[in-house]
Amino acid sequence: MILKEAVQHKAFGIISQAAGELGYPAYVVGGYVRDIFLKRDSKDIDIVAVGNGIALAKKVAGLLGPKTKVSVFKNYGTAMLHIGELEIEFVGARRESYNKDSRKPVVEDGTLEDDQLRRDFTINALAISLNKDTYGELVDPFNGLEHINQEIIKTPLEPGKTFSDDPLRMMRAVRFATQLDFTIEDETYEALNKNAHRLKIVSRERIIDELNKMIMAEQPSRGFKLLLNTGLLEQFFPEMVNLRGVDKRKEQSHKDNFYHTIEVLDNVAQQGGDLWVRWAALLHDIGKPATKRYSKETGYTFHGHEVVGSKMIPGIFKRLKMPLNDKMKYVQKLVFLHLRPIALIEDHVTDSAVRRLLFEAGDNIEDLMMLCKADITSKNRTKVIRYRNNFDMVLQKLKEVEEQDRLRNWQPPISGEEIMDTFGLKPSRQVGEIKNAIREAILDGEIKNNYEEAYEFMLKKANEMGLAPVKNKKKNNRSDAENA
Ligand code: ATP
Ligand code: MG
Repeated sequence: MILKEAVQHKAFGIISQAAGELGYPAYVVGGYVRDIFLKRDSKDIDIVAVGNGIALAKKVAGLLGPKTKVSVFKNYGTAMLHIGELEIEFVGARRESYNKDSRKPVVEDGTLEDDQLRRDFTINALAISLNKDTYGELVDPFNGLEHINQEIIKTPLEPGKTFSDDPLRMMRAVRFATQLDFTIEDETYEALNKNAHRLKIVSRERIIDELNKMIMAEQPSRGFKLLLNTGLLEQFFPEMVNLRGVDKRKEQSHKDNFYHTIEVLDNVAQQGGDLWVRWAALLHDIGKPATKRYSKETGYTFHGHEVVGSKMIPGIFKRLKMPLNDKMKYVQKLVFLHLRPIALIEDHVTDSAVRRLLFEAGDNIEDLMMLCKADITSKNRTKVIRYRNNFDMVLQKLKEVEEQDRLRNWQPPISGEEIMDTFGLKPSRQVGEIKNAIREAILDGEIKNNYEEAYEFMLKKANEMGLAPVKNKKKNNRSDAENA
């Protein structure tokens, strides 16, 4: 099969010319070729040279002109350069042999077919010739194209071998099955079950890389079911596996929190949530197993699971080598607050409850609401619809209060410094107490959110504490407060 259109871009012509001048064959290979047939956009191109990949990259750069930069990764024998919007990576064809006792493969120069054989899946082992006499010809020794059409994930070698050579490929199998909505072929699936325990030797960073790609798929629940059922998930994420299962006593039971969680994740994905709100979905009920209680009167309860769950997150992030930065704090915050909007529905939606929520969630309010909406799952359709309608009411209320009070990232109109100045205090517990009291009074609607009322309230509160002002009101503070 000749794929003229696929290699029309001028970049391929230049690579072809360079390879011709060096006198060895070159091919486009891997994901880029697969994505042509899947009609997916991709900007990363992998080139295999049956010869020296770095030399080919340098030759290409030479043809492009002196300004072209080549990044060389000597240890890997690869080189990378950009042509327009394309990122092109060059590597020499290689053959790998693995020794059972060592994780490090012995890598030698090989033929194109050797190189295709050591790739993870048949759909990722397609190549297109860039050589003069066969330009554009598809090289497909393992029926990759057929498998694309049949929508199956299958290894080019006996799957047990492919997976034991690099166990990360098991994660990749699940990731591609999820992203592409493909089925894992039976023998390959069996090998996943059998070799899952070997994932333990793979670095957490590589695992999480694949996991995150899977989480970003349209329907990530498919991937989590595969990870659970093959035994891969328990290798790196036992907390999630623990969510699974239903206890029953008499007529009382609870939802299976694993399936609930991945349904919530799908719902967030459907609302276009980014990676971190998806992680919040994944972890929102992670504290449930630890807080599960049963009593005849109330059935199963999970009191405080949002607190316990949010405290579990640093440990999980650390073990999974995920960033311990503001992203983690964000996930913790969402998990911690995830019940609050629903509680608003169940109670009475008062202005002060809404104000408090806005104050605590700050800029994350939209994401929190996205998570909460996603969290409404039930087998009972009418129940879901009723909940979602109530939820929309809370959303409306939030909007009104927000417009009225502008509480997002709000700072109370009187600062700690002013309190200290007014009463001649050093930084102390008393200052904090007065400051908190002012904030609470505003959030509760006891006083309005302006400087005048806050000042009066401060005097009153301080008086109760036995404090008298040593200094009068700052004059220039009023306009600040009104802008707050
Ligand atoms: P995408 O970039 O869309 O996530 P991709 O298939 O391009 O998908 P990459 O990780 O960019 O995936 O890898 C490029 C190619 O390198 C793959 O198509 C595959 O042929 C090969 N490859 C990558 N990782 C492995 C691996 N662990 N084992 C075997 N082959 C691999
Ligand atoms: Mg790629």
